[in-house]
Amino acid sequence: MTQADIIVYGAHWCPDCRRSKQFLGEHQIPYTWIDIEEDKQAEQEVIAKNQGKRIIPTIVFDDGDFLVEPTNAQLASKLGLKTHASRHHYDLIVVGGGPAGLTAAIYTAREAIDTLVIERAAFGGQAAGTEKLDNMPGFPDGVAGIEFSQRLRQQAERFGVELLQAQEITTVYQKDNYHCVETADGSQYSSKTLLITTGSRYKRLEVSGESDYLGAGVHFCATCDGPFYKGKQVAVVGGGNSAAEESLLLTKFADQVVILVRKGAFKATQFIQDKVLAHPKIEVRWHTEVSAFSGARGKLKELKIRNNQTHQSEVLPVDGAFIFIGLTPNTGFLKGSGIVLDSWGFIVTGQALKQCRGLPPLFEDRDPFLLESSIPGIFAAGDVRDASTKQVVSAAGEGGSVALEIREYLKRV
Ligand SMILES: Cc1cc2nc3c(=O)[nH]c(=O)nc-3n(C[C@H](O)[C@H](O)[C@H](O)COP(=O)(O)OP(=O)(O)OC[C@H]3O[C@@H](n4cnc5c(N)ncnc54)[C@H](O)[C@@H]3O)c2cc1C
Repeated sequence: MTQADIIVYGAHWCPDCRRSKQFLGEHQIPYTWIDIEEDKQAEQEVIAKNQGKRIIPTIVFDDGDFLVEPTNAQLASKLGLKTHASRHHYDLIVVGGGPAGLTAAIYTAREAIDTLVIERAAFGGQAAGTEKLDNMPGFPDGVAGIEFSQRLRQQAERFGVELLQAQEITTVYQKDNYHCVETADGSQYSSKTLLITTGSRYKRLEVSGESDYLGAGVHFCATCDGPFYKGKQVAVVGGGNSAAEESLLLTKFADQVVILVRKGAFKATQFIQDKVLAHPKIEVRWHTEVSAFSGARGKLKELKIRNNQTHQSEVLPVDGAFIFIGLTPNTGFLKGSGIVLDSWGFIVTGQALKQCRGLPPLFEDRDPFLLESSIPGIFAAGDVRDASTKQVVSAAGEGGSVALEIREYLKRV
């Protein structure tokens, strides 16, 4: 089945339509969206398919088949995604199929460690949603995030990694010396070792236009995307250390950097604040919030900003905007697992566990491996790990390193 001809009939106010579109988007499956409130002929087609009822979303596939208000599981099944594993027990289960998880799986499967990767969306993680990775070693002209992700997946498949998609892990627990995971549909799998590579999400402002210009003017990483703005004007949103440090980095490329700070002062350390405030290319606007992003021909052109003291609004022309208001780790499913997290929710590993609360009593006769969590045999790598550097190359690097630690661990159990 070719997936390019999927049509989603719905309406802008319908939450199930949004969920279905999000599912297709996360799995990078192209579709056409038709709002039946703006297209009367499409509305009649929906009514005809549903025996006189106007039910949305109605999703039509190119084989003529259609699904009405499908669950994510029904969509996954129709699209032929592999959502259930062939067995219940593995040497290693990897939770999360981004650069860290897939790299680890390539290493372990190559060493004949029986490996299952469980991914809730599309393989490649955040990297798959990145238009172009310009800083990947070995790709002199850069590489599209989607292409890089497909290559990782193909390589994992070549070494026999078993890959599940559209399955979210909701629980992690221990039973009879095994590590167990449960998926949202209730499936359970166990393994001798568990690797968590579930990454993190950049916090968004959640205002109009923001998601329309992701990667086309709206960015979350100055190291990654700053070099695209040589000689241009950019805005930075945020008042913490990241916003201040990344603004300084952006001055190496942009002609002007306008920092928009919601409060009347920075939260950044004094040393960095002093550097920012003295920099000739940086202008700081206090008490300023972004209320909308807008542009033309798919490219960001301006921000609508508002002073939260005077309530005055204005339009700020920009070539790009960088948002640094924090990161949320994907670790909600670890609640109750006993895995030690830092105060932001990232997984603490290795020697950092000692500084955290003293080494957990579970480690009686050895120190944890560098990428091992507070529970022996459960490892973490990439963006989800406390103190990781939030780059593709370092996530993949940690994936390789953790695979070698897992190999050593498995020799002992
Ligand atoms: C817009 C954007 C642009 C970027 N540009 C660059 C760049 O140019 N260069 C660069 O080096 N870095 C860039 N980065 C950062 C880079 O993408 C990340 O550092 C990298 O992808 C982290 O890899 P990871 O494997 O640790 O985590 P992720 O890539 O976040 O992958 C984690 C995976 O785990 C899955 N997952 C989460 N929870 C669960 C669960 N409960 N069950 C199952 N699966 C789960 C997620 O769906 C995801 O696929 C960018 C990031 C963004 C958002």
